[in-house]
Amino acid sequence: MSYECPHCKSENTNKLSISYENGLTQVKTRTAGIGGLLGLFGPAIGVGLVRTRGTHQTGTSLRATPPRKKSFIKPFILSFIVGCLANLAIAFYSASAALKGNVTTEVFLLVLSVYLFYTWHFNSRVWPKQMAAWNGLFICNRCGETFTPGR
Ligand SMILES: [Zn+2]
Repeated sequence: MSYECPHCKSENTNKLSISYENGLTQVKTRTAGIGGLLGLFGPAIGVGLVRTRGTHQTGTSLRATPPRKKSFIKPFILSFIVGCLANLAIAFYSASAALKGNVTTEVFLLVLSVYLFYTWHFNSRVWPKQMAAWNGLFICNRCGETFTPGR
């Protein structure tokens, strides 16, 4: 079932999620190169065999990328960095000797708990709504407009 594009009125539209699936193509290429180079002290020949394997996405597919869940690894790394920086800042700026303890762990745990809560909240409450909205999106194959039918 297709809907009319609200922008250019074309009926050449389809679900954005289908465009995304179609745009994901497996790429397996093999490149062989023989290069001759005439240097100052004689010729040098280089032979190169390069193998590339990966996922290639078309332009439309890249724009159609679904919303992603947040990683639970990032909070740990970022909180640790913040903890170290806080410790450095206190050691550097504080005149009071009493404050010059090691605050890395305290700051790390504080930032981590807030960040983990935020990540959990996003993944369990915000992301499902974004995903549902994304699943309802259509894309116009003529002008590239993305839209929700009936809005
Ligand atoms: Zn259009």
